[in-house]
Amino acid sequence: MNAGGYLLKALQAAIVHNEFAVLCMAGMFDRATVNRVQQSNDIVDVISEHVALAKKGREMVGVCPFHDDHRPSMYVNSDKQIFKCFACGAGGSVFTFVQMRENLSFPQAIERLAQRAGIKLTPAKRTASTSAAVADIDPNRLAKLNAFSAEHFCKNLMDEEKGKYALDYVTARKISPESVEKWQLGLALDSGDDLVQAAAKRAIPKKLLTDAGLAVTRRDGRLGDKFVNRLIFPITDVTARVIAFGGRTLDDDDAKYINSPTTVLFDKSNTIYGLQQARHRIVSTGTAVAVEGYTDCIMAHQCGCTNVVATLGTSFTSGHARILRRYAKRIVLVFDSDTAGIAAANRALEICLAQRIGIAIASVPQGKDPCDFLVSSGKEKFEELVEQATDVFEFKWNRLKENFAKNNNLIDNRAAVEEFLQAVATGISAGNLSAIDRGLIVNQLSRIISLPAKEINSELRQHLRKAQRSAANNQRRSDFEPVDFGRGLFAAAQREILEVLLNEPKLYELVKQKIAADVFDVPILKQVAALVFETLNSSPETSLADILALAESVAQANAIVELERTGREKGNFESQLVGAMDAVREHQSRQARSNIQTSEDERQFLKRFGEDTRGNNRRSVGMV
Ligand SMILES: [Zn+2]
Repeated sequence: MNAGGYLLKALQAAIVHNEFAVLCMAGMFDRATVNRVQQSNDIVDVISEHVALAKKGREMVGVCPFHDDHRPSMYVNSDKQIFKCFACGAGGSVFTFVQMRENLSFPQAIERLAQRAGIKLTPAKRTASTSAAVADIDPNRLAKLNAFSAEHFCKNLMDEEKGKYALDYVTARKISPESVEKWQLGLALDSGDDLVQAAAKRAIPKKLLTDAGLAVTRRDGRLGDKFVNRLIFPITDVTARVIAFGGRTLDDDDAKYINSPTTVLFDKSNTIYGLQQARHRIVSTGTAVAVEGYTDCIMAHQCGCTNVVATLGTSFTSGHARILRRYAKRIVLVFDSDTAGIAAANRALEICLAQRIGIAIASVPQGKDPCDFLVSSGKEKFEELVEQATDVFEFKWNRLKENFAKNNNLIDNRAAVEEFLQAVATGISAGNLSAIDRGLIVNQLSRIISLPAKEINSELRQHLRKAQRSAANNQRRSDFEPVDFGRGLFAAAQREILEVLLNEPKLYELVKQKIAADVFDVPILKQVAALVFETLNSSPETSLADILALAESVAQANAIVELERTGREKGNFESQLVGAMDAVREHQSRQARSNIQTSEDERQFLKRFGEDTRGNNRRSVGMV
């Protein structure tokens, strides 16, 4: 049956069985909508936007973004529209991927993918409980307000009267009209409540404005704009959703740049400016170039260097590295050539070693910022700069040598060697440094500091043990928690039933009258059984993707894909099922027997207890 046919049938069945409420997704969207969104977002296309995929047999394979790895362990199956990582166990539908990747709820993932496919969503009527939840801080409402505000700021900048001075500034900074459009640059007027007024006209609640960090309560108690007389840089996530704003002052405000405060959508140290625009190029070149400022990033793209992103005027954090690691094999940090840049580079080095990614450092010459450098020297020179970036170890090595050259202080030199050995150890344990490099480093170090290589080696080993311990801790802190399928024979039987049904839905006929979902007692299996049984009750012609489209939690989707795979590997569906059902029956009758036994025991106990009490009473009576 084709997808449309299935859909119709499922809907009819749902209406007939009056199960529509049950089939509604999170009280937000009906099943037909969910299916339409799923069908308009091919899983291979969506995952390719985040991970480089290569063809392998009938599937695609890539490096899993949900655990620490360099080897490709994540398979994407286009026929089944599922993904599965064989190393960490993450798996599910296109919705699951987006949920895990962007830390979204199921309805949010649906909205996101609908947006991607240009589908307009109309939420199913909201129940009292969902609208109450929505009254709290809802990321989707914040995102909508942000989109409205971004558009408002754009209009201001384009306004021939109000926006002229700001546009003049933009032009003076050599930012082209195309870039203004591409990066949705805007203007926050200096009236102090321009956005607040505009929002009031749209009946946008004041609380939402303050929740989004776009408005602040002023001393006189009235609501005012957070961004006043500033050039606005909307900050988007990878799906082009505006999550926050950066603003550069257009007068002499001491705070040259300000950002939105932390909200449910935005956390500065975990956000990268320009990732949405740069990620394709980053994946295809394997290199991400990170600058600090908005205008540096914009100018790079304008000049044709489209794998450039920016930290939001802050120094590079391990959050940034973790995100970029998902897209890039190598990160090049480009700094102004001032000392602040060098100090920041030093910090970034430690972070990136721990994050297991190759990193190199480049400085812009002549004390310029990258934006000025791009304007004056152009694309080729900038690319040269990136090309010739210094590997972190070399960078650290050069610093060490400089230190020894100009410094005779034994304690300082000692500290520098320690620091270097720590970096080398982290590099080795992260797989960033080969044994040959290690030997060379030890020998050179031995020459510079006139210490026997043997001694340096033993010290290095100590650092290495420390580095490996912290790497092991990092490993455990992966983005993903494996599913607990329970232990024991009965749990195994529950698993097997689902393994078979996910592969051979027509065998549900054998299960239907005999076992209900409430027989399952392992929590995750009980949830999956409820989904599987419900879907199969409404239509026996069900695909894995249909069942996955009902799985609201990431854990459920992970479990479904895992169960489908193990089931497929075991094969022999019918005999597996018969065996598992026998085991379930056996368990049930044993439990029934033990219940009887328990009540027998209880009766016996009560009887004895009664006799004892009576005996006691007798004795007490006797004593009295
Ligand atoms: Zn994985």
